[in-house]
Amino acid sequence: MSNNSQQAFANACRVMVGGVNSPVRSFASVDGSPPFIAGGQGAYLSDIDGRRYLDYVGSYGAAILGHAHPEIIATLREVATNGLTFGAPTLAETELAEIICSAFPAIDRVRLVSSGTEACLSAVRLARAYTERRAIVKFSGCYHGHGDMFLVAAGSGATTQGIATSRGVTESVSSDTHVVPYNDVAAVEQLFDKHGREIAALIVEPIVGNCGFIRPIPGFLALLRDICNNNGSLLIFDEVMTGFRVAWGGVQTLVDIAPDLTTLGKVIGGGLPLAALAGRAEIMELLAPRGEVYQAGTMSGNPLAVACGIKTLEILARDRTYQRLSEQTARLSTGIRELTAGSAQPMTADSEGGMFGFFFSKVAVTNAQQAMTTDRNLFKRFFHHLLANGIYLAPSPFEAGFVSICHGDQEIDQTLACCEQFIDRSSSG
Ligand code: PLP
Repeated sequence: MSNNSQQAFANACRVMVGGVNSPVRSFASVDGSPPFIAGGQGAYLSDIDGRRYLDYVGSYGAAILGHAHPEIIATLREVATNGLTFGAPTLAETELAEIICSAFPAIDRVRLVSSGTEACLSAVRLARAYTERRAIVKFSGCYHGHGDMFLVAAGSGATTQGIATSRGVTESVSSDTHVVPYNDVAAVEQLFDKHGREIAALIVEPIVGNCGFIRPIPGFLALLRDICNNNGSLLIFDEVMTGFRVAWGGVQTLVDIAPDLTTLGKVIGGGLPLAALAGRAEIMELLAPRGEVYQAGTMSGNPLAVACGIKTLEILARDRTYQRLSEQTARLSTGIRELTAGSAQPMTADSEGGMFGFFFSKVAVTNAQQAMTTDRNLFKRFFHHLLANGIYLAPSPFEAGFVSICHGDQEIDQTLACCEQFIDRSSSG
């Protein structure tokens, strides 16, 4: 890593914990210090040393249009001249909520918030109020933001940093959270057999992106729907990462399953802080000011973030955008699988829409326990090989990768060539 970024990191560490404002940005788990980003254009980032990187992090999924999309910039300029925040209703909020409702058949009402964490916290509060029960169920390796009740066997940075169950969470909070392995039908059934009548909600990433990319086994999500129905528990799909990323209507429209509540984030803000909690009217209407579940936010529905979200979704809705995005992403994951098939370093790779992931593993990874056993040292070497060749992945084997509409044939070919070089070197060395 070159001098300016190293110096910037040292300066940052003096005033910010670990030099970063979110642990996933730290390079601690891959032994290094992060490049400091000067800016981004399309599929590329540049750092303060003038190095250019092909970006597969995309701000952890938000930057689906790539960086500095001209139509987004023009929209933001126009909206900003009219004031930044009012703390009062605006027409654009209704417009965004209408787009969300029309994209997701299971959503009748939307509450805009500013982060995925907020959306998931509020979804659980609402579920508890609706069912008048306390317990929730989550899956190990899934990440639903940093709310206390979710920091038990949490994925993403919590797993990467080895603190999947965080200190500072009281026992009384964590004892209301039941954790089961992803894709483990028997474990879910046993848990509900024993505690079903106490469970307010089951929250799930319908495709996991916070423990690498892990797909639900066929029938798994339908089983969750049935079990929740049979026990009077609510089903929450956390589509903060997958919503408008894997497909226009998220995973739920791909599998045709209607959750009771959905959380959204990342893409719906197009790069500005915006998220949503949404779902069936009967449940959502319990929120204040209609009902007695309190939820509020000074920045909720912020005009700039809402305008950015609307414009992003308008661009995504254009002809064949998802088809092209899916094709490019699949070319990458298929290419990685084919390159490594039969080699000394087999990799699994998979994708859906503009989201992908891979593991250094011979067999398909179906849950967090398995993900933890994949070769982390090999990942570290792979990560640094790509970075040295101008390709920027998340600094953790437990994060998904993201392709934007700006990643074209050339970018995918360049990435596959770089992977091939790594495989050849590792096999010969
Ligand atoms: N849920 C999922 C599935 C996520 O991937 C994330 C963030 O990565 C969150 C919730 C939390 O969102 P935020 O970081 O905006 O609080």
